[in-house]
Amino acid sequence: MSKMQRKIAVVAGGAGFLGSHLCDALLSENVDVICVDNFRTGRARNLAHLQREPRFELIEADVINALPARLGRLQIDAVFNLACAASPPHYQADPEHTLLTCVLGTRNLLRLAEASGARFVLASTSEIYGDPEIHPQVETYWGNVNPTGPRACYDEGKRAAETLTFDYARMGRVDVRVARIFNTYGPRMRADDGRIVSNAITQALADNPVTIYGDGTQSRSFCYAEDLVDGLMRLGACETPLDGPINLGNPAELTIAKLVGQVIALTGSRSSTVFCPLPLDDPRRRRPSIARANKLLGWSPRIPLSTGLKSTIAWFAAEQQHTPVVNAH
Ligand code: NAD
Ligand code: UDP
Repeated sequence: MSKMQRKIAVVAGGAGFLGSHLCDALLSENVDVICVDNFRTGRARNLAHLQREPRFELIEADVINALPARLGRLQIDAVFNLACAASPPHYQADPEHTLLTCVLGTRNLLRLAEASGARFVLASTSEIYGDPEIHPQVETYWGNVNPTGPRACYDEGKRAAETLTFDYARMGRVDVRVARIFNTYGPRMRADDGRIVSNAITQALADNPVTIYGDGTQSRSFCYAEDLVDGLMRLGACETPLDGPINLGNPAELTIAKLVGQVIALTGSRSSTVFCPLPLDDPRRRRPSIARANKLLGWSPRIPLSTGLKSTIAWFAAEQQHTPVVNAH
């Protein structure tokens, strides 16, 4: 490819929370972006600000199906696969679609990357580790996943997506990069996606009781979207072939009860907390080892939880004031 030619990236799942931020980051690095999304959990309003951006194109399609033939004729430099619902209630609402998105969607996007010699970046997940027996989680840990439980459509789907991705790499068909993303939050999360950060903020802003599942002693480690997308961009730009996945997440671990306490304090809410049953197979704890990301990508998250929560709360508060610019799907 001549240096004068523009770079093109396909972002599958680009209308979603993280995908839309990735589209913005690529465009700001002068990469043309083609977003492919079926709008199951993504929203046109996440991309409304790009409506008149000539370097951005939106294709409404489901990656389970054959991709539009036109894509195969383009000189694409990178294919980012973020297509897949990420919140447990959403990915469990249609488990067959979730599993097929991970497997068939990844196969279709790998083949697209192969056809144009593009690099393929998979958004995998910390759910690969399931309910982890080692702590913090390192990439060499194989995980502890219930293969038949309600989370399996996502966990096993992503594990199969990783398998296929590394098979394509081993066969010399595609240059691949795999990110195992840990819990990430920030502006453009859906208020109704059922995840802890969006639930706690919307409940606290409304002075409604904040729901804690189980006793709240389970832990997570929350990464701000801007940091995470910086990691994905570095991974996509990394010229060294990598022989395995890379964790991306913020190692600052805290219990869900502590997180809820912070959200209530930062919103100045009068909310109480209410304890609800813990969902089946809910992981007890999660914290990434990011030594590999640090060494190979020079990456580590910069935005502390309190700062990230403040801007996420401000975004949710502003959202509540607005009528949507473009109808949400
Ligand atoms: P999201 O639900 O906001 O975004 C997913 C996007 O993919 C949506 O726009 C949705 O409409 C689209 N999509 C789903 N299935 C599709 C299909 N078959 N064809 C085309 N488009 C499809 O979720 P997110 O939080 O932005 O997550 C993005 C990616 O990152 C996902 O692959 C997820 O597994 C991964 N990830 C996210 C987190 C997190 O904490 N946000 C953690 C680990 C992994
Ligand atoms: N959770 C909670 N209250 C909620 C939503 C989630 O206590 O309203 C808990 C959930 O059971 C889990 C943790 O918060 O232990 C993180 O849940 P989330 O769905 O955000 O992410 P994941 O379970 O995929 O890590």
